Amino acid sequence: MATRRMTYRLYPNTQIENILRYHRKLQKDLYNAAVKNRFTQYQKFNHKVDYFEQQNCLPAFKEVWTEYKEINSQALQATLKRVDFGFERWFKGLGKRPKFKSIRHYSGWTYPAKSGYYVESNSENGYLNLSKIGRIQMRGKAKYWGKPTTCTIVYRNGKWYASITVDVLDQVLKPEVLPVGAIGIDLGCKSALSITDGENHQLSCAPKFLRSAEHKIKKASKEKRRKRAPNRNKKIKASRRYKKAQAKVSKLTRKVGNQRQNWVHQVAAEIASGNSFVATEKLEVKNMTSKAKKGKRKKQKAGLNKSILDVSFGMLRSTIKYKVEQIGGVFVEVPTRKVKPSQTCPKCGSQHKKTLDIRVHECVCGYSQDRDIAAAEVMLYWAKGTLPESGTGFAVAESPSSTTSTSKRNLAGSMRQLGAKKRQKSTESLTKHELRDVETHSSGVRAASRSEANCG
Ligand SMILES: [Zn+2]
Repeated sequence: MATRRMTYRLYPNTQIENILRYHRKLQKDLYNAAVKNRFTQYQKFNHKVDYFEQQNCLPAFKEVWTEYKEINSQALQATLKRVDFGFERWFKGLGKRPKFKSIRHYSGWTYPAKSGYYVESNSENGYLNLSKIGRIQMRGKAKYWGKPTTCTIVYRNGKWYASITVDVLDQVLKPEVLPVGAIGIDLGCKSALSITDGENHQLSCAPKFLRSAEHKIKKASKEKRRKRAPNRNKKIKASRRYKKAQAKVSKLTRKVGNQRQNWVHQVAAEIASGNSFVATEKLEVKNMTSKAKKGKRKKQKAGLNKSILDVSFGMLRSTIKYKVEQIGGVFVEVPTRKVKPSQTCPKCGSQHKKTLDIRVHECVCGYSQDRDIAAAEVMLYWAKGTLPESGTGFAVAESPSSTTSTSKRNLAGSMRQLGAKKRQKSTESLTKHELRDVETHSSGVRAASRSEANCG
């Protein structure tokens, strides 16, 4: 069973919209009360309030604040959970100290299980029934449909949405016949995507809007900084020009976000439609200290200030992984430091150091190729176990889910051969240590695919 999430736009009538707003306000007040409760209990009595203590207070709370009796109690608990989550993140050093939220920054609420709402839909459009609120028309289309498990109401930019997760049967997500292609992808160059199957090569650039988006947003933000910003301490209100500039920045950011999402899904879907074996570089945590020496700002040191292109390529990578594994294919992560795709010749396996400005791979064996295509080739061959002289290919690889494959599904012939090759190779040439490496790697893939299934 896999979980899929789908967002629908809601079209409430005026009366229902007022009730939605009212519920959102009550949830916001509860959120703030719960945050305040935690702070005062700690500051005055040195007592750490946890989630369950707050949850157990809910009935008594409702006796005093009777308007909350109208609200689904699981939805109230989910709001307390949000508070708990915020504090947990803060304690672990992952997030900032939780803040009180104004209504403008409060997005909505969640029904964490199957009560409080009822969905009337067969994946496309339909109605959402919310208890004590009403029946609301919704528009949107889900690719996969199943039993709704959670429902989150979101208010953003003046519009209402319902984000619904459904349980989808695994069989539904998988094709009867796996696509036969096997490719290597190099995403290393930050702006270009190099794909190869060993014979056909494809070099493509990130679309122009992604490359220029950063510049545009920076320019708009600069405009904004020149206007009079609000300052609560000095009781200064934002100027009308500031608000206008602010609106422009958020519109641009939103637009790029949507464009990026479309692009990522298109590219990933195309790859997954023709290939069930994809090899690409393993993401390595970059050594931040070297950057720190150069005296960049703190945020950049921590790697938080990622550029739009970086983020896009990260999203592309994880979406490809998700889609390939979803159909039962294999996504191999090639360990960069061990294999050195950009320094290795795909034809003879010999290694030569290339600096970043050398864009063409030229080897003593006579093989000449674009640098990034060559790197993609190295990754593909290494993953298949056919990289010359390397000897330690990961090769295939039962995919996490293909062990349960139905008899109907027909693994591509080449894949089967690969499997046989791998089994030979692993017994012949892998040392114990390397075997352990492979094992932990594949279980890692499994865990990752499981965790990613939740955010699709
Ligand atoms: Zn060579």
